[in-house]
Amino acid sequence: MNKNVELENLKQEMLADKTLPLKPANLVFGEGNIDCHVMFVGEAPGEAEDRLIRPFVGRSGKLLDQLLAEISWQREQVYITNIVKRRPPENRDPSPEEIAVYKPYLAKQIEIIKPKIIATLGRFSMNYFLPLAKITRDQGKLLEVNGQKIFPLFHPAAVLRGTVAMKDYQQSFKRLASALNNPADNFGPF
Ligand code: URA
Repeated sequence: MNKNVELENLKQEMLADKTLPLKPANLVFGEGNIDCHVMFVGEAPGEAEDRLIRPFVGRSGKLLDQLLAEISWQREQVYITNIVKRRPPENRDPSPEEIAVYKPYLAKQIEIIKPKIIATLGRFSMNYFLPLAKITRDQGKLLEVNGQKIFPLFHPAAVLRGTVAMKDYQQSFKRLASALNNPADNFGPF
C-alpha cells in the first residue's frame, strides 16, 4: 500500500473512532510532504487551525513558515502535524488523558511517513518522545530514542509571548538544518 492510501486510511480510522475526545472540533490530521526528511510535531490545533482544518496556520504557523524560509526550507517540503489532533477549548493545554488517546495515531502516522528527523515544537510534543527531557536544556540538540532522531524546539508561541528570544530560535533552526546534513556531529545525551 502506498503512503497516501495508508495515511488516508489512518485519517478515516480517526474520524470513526468514537473514543477520541474534543469533538465537535475538526480533526486536523496533518499536511505536507509524505516523503519528507523532517516532520514537525506540535501540541494541538488552535482556533485558526480548527477553522481552516490545517496545522500551524495561525500566528504560530506564520512564525514557523518564516523560520523555515530563513533556513531556505519550503513549508511544502516538510510534514506538519500535532499530537492531539482536535482543538482543546479556549486553547487550553491538552490534558494527559487527551494526549494518551491520540498518541497511538501519531505513532502510526510516523511509522507510515518514516521521517529522518522529528522536530518537536514545545514541551508536550518533546515529552511524548523524551519523557525526561527539559525544553530549556535540550532544545536545539539532535537526540535519538529507539533509533528515531528527535530534535526538540521551543514552541513558536514562546517566541510570540517573548519568553524565548527570536535570535536563539533562529539559531536552533539553523542547527536543525545542519543536523539533517551532519547527524553524526549532533547526538546529545539520550
Ligand atoms: N499550535 C500547535 O501546537 N499546533 C498548531 O497546529 C497550531 C498552534
